[in-house]
Amino acid sequence: MKPDGVTPIPSDARARRAVKAVICYPNDSLPPYDSAFYDRARTGMMLVDTVTVPPRQGNTAYVPAGHIFRIVSVDGPQVGDLNLWNANDLNERFYSGKTRALHGTHVGVGDKMWSTFPAMRPMATIIGDTLDWYGFDADGGSVHDVIGTRCDPYTNNLLTGGQYHHCCHSNLTRALAEAKGLPLVEAEPLVHDVMNVFMCTGFTHKTHQYFMKASPVRPGDYIEMFAEIDLLVGLSACPGGDCGSEHSSDVVTCHPLVIEVYKPIADLGDWQMAQPNRYDRSHGID
Ligand SMILES: [Zn+2]
Repeated sequence: MKPDGVTPIPSDARARRAVKAVICYPNDSLPPYDSAFYDRARTGMMLVDTVTVPPRQGNTAYVPAGHIFRIVSVDGPQVGDLNLWNANDLNERFYSGKTRALHGTHVGVGDKMWSTFPAMRPMATIIGDTLDWYGFDADGGSVHDVIGTRCDPYTNNLLTGGQYHHCCHSNLTRALAEAKGLPLVEAEPLVHDVMNVFMCTGFTHKTHQYFMKASPVRPGDYIEMFAEIDLLVGLSACPGGDCGSEHSSDVVTCHPLVIEVYKPIADLGDWQMAQPNRYDRSHGID
């Protein structure tokens, strides 16, 4: 939190603060969201896999390029922490910070889930969201943020001194280790900052601190994405439940989440997997 300044306020402070804000990364040069294509892709799509993520646990699903997956709320309000990996190269993974820089603090239909450098390409496109009605509330909160990191045992230990093993970071680590047959020490560094599925978050008006409030998600709600490359999807059912009070403990009620994987039956025409970024990677060295 920024402290109150001790430096004398300059005489032109008002003018300096009043300069026009400009968008850091205008994204209007990106291809526009092709709703007709994605609507066609989902028409008649066939359910081919269903993966349950138990409360306070993680799990993974394989989603081939050109398939669609849904994260579905079942039984009760529950937040999910989402990781995405290139199924063929786990070093390419979801880049929460860049996705935020391009699309804003909270994502929705039409936004892409971008991957890390050097590929930096769309891993998935959000094509459906039953919480799209929520918008931003009076607190400045909204759902599906790319602000938070993931609840983790290190921050919990730092703040409370405790040892808690079912934070989303640990749940995702165990799930990835099991899916790929990796030791925990190799899986852990591949776990990354998340998209907080269904979580309602924002920054307080006064101190600009990260806040959460009980998720508006209800059983039957879902978010739906189209896989732009072959994906390994990791999801943790956060120990915070609806994240209305606390996380990193066994105190609150938690519910499962479900990942549904669908195969389109529609002809996808000349659609192709997203290609890696075309920067030449010379970094100025001939
Ligand atoms: Zn969590």
